[in-house]
Amino acid sequence: MHEQGRGCQCTIRQADQSAMIANIALTDARHAVDKLFDYLIPPELERVAKPGMRVLVPFGVRNTAVEGLILSVSQTSEFPSLKPLIRCLDPLPVLTEELISLCVWMRHQYLCSFQQSYRQVKPPYLGTRLRQWLFFLKDTEEKLSAPQRRLLDTLKEYDGFAEMAELEAALHRTSIRSSAYALQDKGLLEIREKIDNTISLKYIRKARLNFSPEEGYATADELRSRRATVQADMVLTLCDCGDLPTSDLVLISDGNYNALNALKDKGIISIYREPFLRTAYAPDQYTPSVPYIPTEEQKPVIDYLNRLITHNLHEKILLRGVTGSGKTEVFLQAIETCIKQGKQAIMLVPEISLTPQMVERFVSRFGTSVAVMHSGLSQGERFDQWYKIRHGEVDVVVGARSAIFAPFKRLGIIILDEEHEDSYKSETAPRYHARDIAFRRGAKHGAPVLLASATPSVTSYYRAKTQKYRLFEMHQRYNQNPLPKARIVDMRSELLDYHNMSSISIRLQDEIRRNLDKKEKTILFLNRRGYNTFVSCRQCGYVMECPHCSIALTYHRSSDHLACHYCGYTCQNVTVCPECGSQYIKFFGTGTQKIEEELYTLFPGVRVLRMDFDTTSGKGGHEILLNRFKNGEADILLGTQMVTKGLDFADVTLVGVLAADTSLNINDYRANERCFSLITQVCGRAGRGNTEGRAVIQTYQPENVTIRLAKEQNYPDFYENEMKYREKMQYPPFCDMIHIVLSGEDERQVKQEIANIGLLLNSRPEIQGAILQTIGPDPAPIAKIKNKFRYRIFLKAADTQQLLPLLRQISTAHNAGNSKNTLTIDINPTNML
Ligand code: ADP
Ligand code: ZN
Ligand code: ZN
Repeated sequence: MHEQGRGCQCTIRQADQSAMIANIALTDARHAVDKLFDYLIPPELERVAKPGMRVLVPFGVRNTAVEGLILSVSQTSEFPSLKPLIRCLDPLPVLTEELISLCVWMRHQYLCSFQQSYRQVKPPYLGTRLRQWLFFLKDTEEKLSAPQRRLLDTLKEYDGFAEMAELEAALHRTSIRSSAYALQDKGLLEIREKIDNTISLKYIRKARLNFSPEEGYATADELRSRRATVQADMVLTLCDCGDLPTSDLVLISDGNYNALNALKDKGIISIYREPFLRTAYAPDQYTPSVPYIPTEEQKPVIDYLNRLITHNLHEKILLRGVTGSGKTEVFLQAIETCIKQGKQAIMLVPEISLTPQMVERFVSRFGTSVAVMHSGLSQGERFDQWYKIRHGEVDVVVGARSAIFAPFKRLGIIILDEEHEDSYKSETAPRYHARDIAFRRGAKHGAPVLLASATPSVTSYYRAKTQKYRLFEMHQRYNQNPLPKARIVDMRSELLDYHNMSSISIRLQDEIRRNLDKKEKTILFLNRRGYNTFVSCRQCGYVMECPHCSIALTYHRSSDHLACHYCGYTCQNVTVCPECGSQYIKFFGTGTQKIEEELYTLFPGVRVLRMDFDTTSGKGGHEILLNRFKNGEADILLGTQMVTKGLDFADVTLVGVLAADTSLNINDYRANERCFSLITQVCGRAGRGNTEGRAVIQTYQPENVTIRLAKEQNYPDFYENEMKYREKMQYPPFCDMIHIVLSGEDERQVKQEIANIGLLLNSRPEIQGAILQTIGPDPAPIAKIKNKFRYRIFLKAADTQQLLPLLRQISTAHNAGNSKNTLTIDINPTNML
């Protein structure tokens, strides 16, 4: 990315021979310039201006101060004269050199800008905010333009100075920058800039005794003899407790701030500031746990990992272990080895399974050496977790996808639990997969990367089978509990043979009743992916669609509204068809709300907890519901994807999958894989305690191979079967899928631009070997979102690395060409709509 441009290297000072030069990437949100710039490091900053440091630099003709990041420091520059940087923004570099090079690599690999990859890796919420203040200097007789005159007069009304944003609001203008600069050039006002960090540490004041405790006791006696009893008590408290926050000291010793200041003035104590770091959990709420003796299946995996960790060897390992086989215990023991050897560990889990139960297992084993990163944390809490990691105050981070960037210096192991989960892939730029970042960081640090799942993605399993990863398998549940007995129910015969109109089959009803009688718990799972409740007309077939997106509106029963899940559009439900005027307009499909009502009708008095997007959206909503279920406040837990993950309730003996095939009917090559893993995961929730579990799988396609094999929890056969299909159709792992999507409001322009991209791709003979197949340009499956038309090209790529330069060229040309359309290039997207 060393494309040092013309332009910005203004002549301020000649670079003398000895000066140090910083290569800087702009990280300021106001400047999306994807280039490096050279700046002089003033002599007084040479010791701190190191790679990874955030700095302020003068930029553009106006020399506005903007935020940048030093990528490297050198002694020469191609440019004869450079501006000096203004100042450093942090006491320590925010990125390590390893993370800087990771950003550079991500920029290349994921076809994004440096700024975009930096934003992923940087401390959460850390940035700068520019405040521009205008100061009135003098008025003039000269004729000014109307906007300039109004600005100057308003500024005078504000007693001579005001913030730019404030004046813009007062003048009802979106920007007064050009008027302001023009007035400054005329010498009528002055613009002063102030730059603040957007987030900073909280500090607390602590008191420290300036003597040893023995001397302290003597001092206390002396104070008491001089009737300074309050001061004496405060000194004694410090002797007993060591350093204390001043507020605690006053509270504990029943003292006051006057006495505190008196002690300070006498030189008996000193007051200092210390960062106050917010924790993401309360460690003292957890009972400590100790390692179990490994089972025969766990032992070889743990031993192998320990050896790799000890010798700093990077290796990629796939652990396939059935649910309940003790994978988490393997993670815990390997992490313990890391900590004992002074190394650190990253433990990734999908956001959805980052439940309190999961966190508890880590905190109860490792106490305060664990940092937790999840989306429920406040900005300050997130930043503090990062700070602790950066300053070596914790050894383990447990978190969702972005925790892969934890700034540890000596990584001992990286673990991805539920490695098949889609949430490890970022859907915004940089469109990275946490697994690939893990491999890169693991290789740099000499640390093993462990991927684990009961149902690995077929791509990972293929790599393990072809010796790219080392494979370990655990087949037994740790207590030899059998996997739940599963039954398939054919929903077609429910209606035909039993006249059962309910979405709950007779069989499942019987099983639920049995559980209610025995006071055992039940989990019901409804897969909502691609399975919305939509409203349509039985007479003419008209479907209520969003006016801005080409997608059916979803019916919300509780408010009798229709809503679009893509753009948020809502409207009142209709009773007559807008197309033909008939009254036979009805909603179809099944939502959790509807099932909940059915349950109340079928089992009067039943206690149901519904867990879906609506009931868990508040802070900790998920947690509260789970606790209520755990505490026996309900007989049935009914929910979407959320109920399939990581829950470990001993007393759940029945699991019902209400509509197994919905995930099969999606136009996506991974539909089978998703369906298999969902059914397996959800059935794995039953029978974790001592009672055997049962599962009922309802489907309209009972003969479907994937569903049959999922019922048997037969991963090897599923894998073999799926690989035949992937190979025949040329899908991953036999290629990469590269998705090029262009969207914009003017359909003709979008079509034109994507056609040009298509032509370019076809016109390069040197890359044709790298492409197996080009599909499109075509309208995307969802052809319109938020009034933007979407077109796409699909490439099946045999060699993605070879294609990257051309793809980069396409995206650079798009960005440079002032196109109004939005271009995204995604390699192996999780969502192909
Ligand atoms: P997985 O992560 O594969 O689903 P877990 O690690 O959650 O499996 O293990 C399931 C249960 O077995 C947990 O309650 C765990 O505490 C217990 N367990 C795991 N390994 C052992 C062991 N070696 N000895 C005793 N109990 C174990
Ligand atoms: Zn109609
Ligand atoms: Zn919409």
